[in-house]
Amino acid sequence: VDIIKRLSAKEPARTSGGFSVRTYRDNSNDVAEVCAHLKEGHVIALPTETVYGLAGDASKPETCQQIFKIKGRPLIDPLIVHIADLSQIELLAEWNPLAQRLADHFWPGALTLILKKKPRVPDIVTAGLNTVAIRMPAHPLMQKVLRTSGLCLAAPSANPFGYVSPTSAQHVIDSLGDRIIGVLDGGECQIGIESTIIDVSDGQTLRLLRPGGITRERIEQATGVTVVQPLPSQCKAQNEPITAPGMLARHYSPHTPLSLFAYRNTPTFNAESTEQAVLWFQRPSNAQRIPTVEHFWLTEDGNLAEAAHNIFNLLRRLDQGAFSHVFVEKAPDAGLGLAINDRLRRAAERANPS
Ligand code: AMP
Ligand code: MG
Repeated sequence: VDIIKRLSAKEPARTSGGFSVRTYRDNSNDVAEVCAHLKEGHVIALPTETVYGLAGDASKPETCQQIFKIKGRPLIDPLIVHIADLSQIELLAEWNPLAQRLADHFWPGALTLILKKKPRVPDIVTAGLNTVAIRMPAHPLMQKVLRTSGLCLAAPSANPFGYVSPTSAQHVIDSLGDRIIGVLDGGECQIGIESTIIDVSDGQTLRLLRPGGITRERIEQATGVTVVQPLPSQCKAQNEPITAPGMLARHYSPHTPLSLFAYRNTPTFNAESTEQAVLWFQRPSNAQRIPTVEHFWLTEDGNLAEAAHNIFNLLRRLDQGAFSHVFVEKAPDAGLGLAINDRLRRAAERANPS
């Protein structure tokens, strides 16, 4: 019974859309075919330097509807629109000099800007908000698709809503393979966590809505403007809508129960259980490697970029290990460590018992 329980706990529950997914590669025929599908209004998973995106023509409401449906994403959670060229902004949003400064420094790259939206952006993209999220990705293959198709592409992470984001084509196939027609394989995502989201819609303040691939320190250095961070508890207390649904407490969650422990501490294992694992921040010393427990680590020597690159792959691997419990060491709370700890906190959050 125990084994059956473990096996059935491993597989994410899902309903098949009856598709069989085709893997496209980095060559001009495949890119042309991917672009043709996108122009017809189909949804295809595409590589970016942050995570894989589930992409579709942002100007077509039915296509965007399809993106929400495939992910099982609630319609209140808006999509990021991806562009290849600054000239595309004009169609989508009200630009301002502070946004320009951010774009000069960080685009193409892992920074998403929230701007006042233009009327032609379909409401479904922005979940009815009067702002729109825009990013210019750096991944060369994603850029090729954006340029060849000429489209602005809405693309949330290509995973079922709430589950761990995908950082390889195989991850996409593992969790959405029967719901999409294609994935363009661009290798492993170099950064490995989502973009930083900054609300710059008033042209003066920089509000951090989600920590991500570009650190707050770099943004402050580049602009000379202090980045303010609205706390989720403030939003809740003031009964405001959640401005960035990335703020949901539970997100990026593997099925295996996780609990976090402080950086450079040691977890308290359950002496009775033989199915425990630890995800250390850094490669553990021999003294830390208790033999009854399995050991994983995010980085060999404490490099934060390496840890970010590995985090989602490791969370997915832990889910395949049939562990009853995984103890996860937090990253140091600085630089990219903030984005890593944000993902770990949300991954460890359990569903509300109801
Ligand atoms: P994903 O692409 O799955 O990482 O999710 C995109 C995220 O961007 C959403 O979950 C929101 O947190 C954020 N977002 C998109 N549009 C807006 C907007 N207009 N205002 C605030 N946040 C947004
Ligand atoms: Mg996501």
